[in-house]
Amino acid sequence: MMAFSRVSLSRVSLFWQNSLTSHIPLSLSNLTFSPQLDRSRFSPSASLSTQDSPPSVDSIPSPKPSSRWKPTCLYHTQGKCTMMDDPTHLERFNHSCSEELKISAAVAAKFKETSSQQLDFFLVLDLEGKVEILEFPVLMLDAKTMDVVDVFHRFVRPSAMSEQRISEYIEGKYGKIGVDRVWHDTAIPFGEVIQGFEGWMARHQLWENKQGGRLRRAAFVTCGNWDLKTKVPQQCKVSRMSLPPYFMEWINLKDIYLNFYKRRATGMITMMKELEIPLVGSHHLGIDDTKNITRVLQHMLIDGAVLQITAKRKPNSPENVEFLFENRIK
Ligand SMILES: [Zn+2]
Repeated sequence: MMAFSRVSLSRVSLFWQNSLTSHIPLSLSNLTFSPQLDRSRFSPSASLSTQDSPPSVDSIPSPKPSSRWKPTCLYHTQGKCTMMDDPTHLERFNHSCSEELKISAAVAAKFKETSSQQLDFFLVLDLEGKVEILEFPVLMLDAKTMDVVDVFHRFVRPSAMSEQRISEYIEGKYGKIGVDRVWHDTAIPFGEVIQGFEGWMARHQLWENKQGGRLRRAAFVTCGNWDLKTKVPQQCKVSRMSLPPYFMEWINLKDIYLNFYKRRATGMITMMKELEIPLVGSHHLGIDDTKNITRVLQHMLIDGAVLQITAKRKPNSPENVEFLFENRIK
């Protein structure tokens, strides 16, 4: 192991350029679904409503206004924010994932010199929705610089549920974190999401629209096998689509974690606790979980972990998944 990879855990805050993420206690995430707090302050949906202006965010405890954590504008992540010229809105909501996840220049420079990643880009993906997919967030991370290149984020409208069932499902899932309104305002069917995603991948030259098109120089990174082994094929059946060829293999970060650190982590929260990375945002809001998984990934890359494909579908029988690591989380 290189000396550089032994960065002590107490120095973890040096990883991120913007110190805000390192000063947020694990429990801050609870703020977003605390019933005592005015939801409108944390909800992009409320800020765009026609109701009275929500109270100012001044009461959020923070030493410096510039280092205050802000919720992500979920209209903006989906290309639908119409308030980019409103200073109050910009003050209240985060409009840049790349700033939030920026690694400090010194750490990034050292990483670039010593890293031996085989891939150029990681596509961190963390789906939400148990019955049908409700949210499809993908974060594109440069494997050589650890910079966030871009984010693809869409809320997804179920295709085999009644309107009433959808409403109940969304209230239960997103109501408590105050993002049900933005979901209803923006969700589109899975088929349209995939079309948009393919256009996004093509623009980043990660993929070409041709028969059997696999990812180029990139791989999906998920926390567990559920997203790509189980949920995407299920949703494709419900949406009457064939499974896209770029979902044939992926990297399960939990297996990389197990083989690199030689200890088991059953989920994202465990990995974050063990690596002393603060949880930011709302757990089970897909885009926030994706950013938190990216923080774990960045930490592991800095520690010296090399990411390789951990699971592959067999070309002739795609329903069968082959696991490539002997030691893995089952
Ligand atoms: Zn916005």
